[in-house]
Amino acid sequence: MKVTEHIEQAKGKTLFSFEIIPPKKGKSIQELYNNIDPLMEFQPPFIDVTTSREEHVYVKKQGLLEQKITRMRPGTLGICAALKHKYQTDTVPHVLCGGFTKEETEYLLVDCQYLGIDNVMALRGDTMSHQKYFEATDGGHLYAKDLVAQIHDLNAGKYLHDVLEVDHRANFCIGVAGYPEKHLEAPSLQTDLKRLKEKVDAGADYIVTQMFFDNQKYFEFVAAAKEAGIHVPIIPGIKPLAIQKHLQLLPQVFKIDLPEALINAVESCKDNAQVREVGIDWAIEQSRELLQAGVPVLHYYSMGKSSNIKKIASELF
Ligand code: FAD
Repeated sequence: MKVTEHIEQAKGKTLFSFEIIPPKKGKSIQELYNNIDPLMEFQPPFIDVTTSREEHVYVKKQGLLEQKITRMRPGTLGICAALKHKYQTDTVPHVLCGGFTKEETEYLLVDCQYLGIDNVMALRGDTMSHQKYFEATDGGHLYAKDLVAQIHDLNAGKYLHDVLEVDHRANFCIGVAGYPEKHLEAPSLQTDLKRLKEKVDAGADYIVTQMFFDNQKYFEFVAAAKEAGIHVPIIPGIKPLAIQKHLQLLPQVFKIDLPEALINAVESCKDNAQVREVGIDWAIEQSRELLQAGVPVLHYYSMGKSSNIKKIASELF
């Protein structure tokens, strides 16, 4: 079922969902199941599975270092199919521009159809670690908007090159990313909103936000999006802070602000066990206020560990 249909069916009740990352190559899927099992009592109607960009690695060959490109966390679609089968829940694979040609994307979408996957999250993807700016893959898309358009075309029975007799059309529900504190490359929030509107106009059905720690930023973003003519559901993404280092890492990587009260609380912690508790309490307070505001879904970034999400969900759902 589509994410938007789940939201409609809930008739104003806030749903619970979360995002997981595939295990590193060589690890079993069991650890993922161990982390997901405790969250299933909260009945997530859908689970997102991220896709990782390929990375440069260096392998030693005859005493020299040779540069290779590899994907450390492959398996997004396989995991989506496995979770859908095991938990009888919808799964949302993240589909990227970066690292994929348009043809590869088409084949991936065909696989999704055969697997009964009704939702995809269309993203540009992160810049590769050795690049300063995002560079499109040869034969791939430069912006998420173009990927959305490709998926939207497929929904209309239009494949890339072939003129086919289509007797079964795709019917994907398309999610895209939104940034309450603007995307790090965008020159202004207003420009970023214009780009977001382009993604919705190209066919996006719902938006999931980047993490934020100050609800006011989300409320203002939703109001500004409406003003800009964006009327699809905007799902808040919540990340419970978990380690002291997040104070530097999160602003550095995502260009987001952390509230003073949260910084002070983390700085007064003796160790990361205490930081984890602070992160849980903060996320509970954030989630309570968002629940009261009637957000369609509370979507948690689990980063593969679920004990903190379980504590948060136990207080709210
Ligand atoms: P876009 O919407 O293409 O925007 C990228 C930038 O380009 C923005 O600054 C935008 O303002 C600008 N822009 C857009 N159109 C134009 C134009 N026509 N001209 C000029 N500028 C333009 N990354 C992963 O690698 N894997 C994941 O699984 C993943 N999951 C994510 C899930 C969520 C909910 C979120 C919020 C992010 C996720 N990301 C993931 C990170 C995401 O890929 C990065 O934030 C990426 O840098 C931007 O992706 P986008 O889809 O928002 O890009």
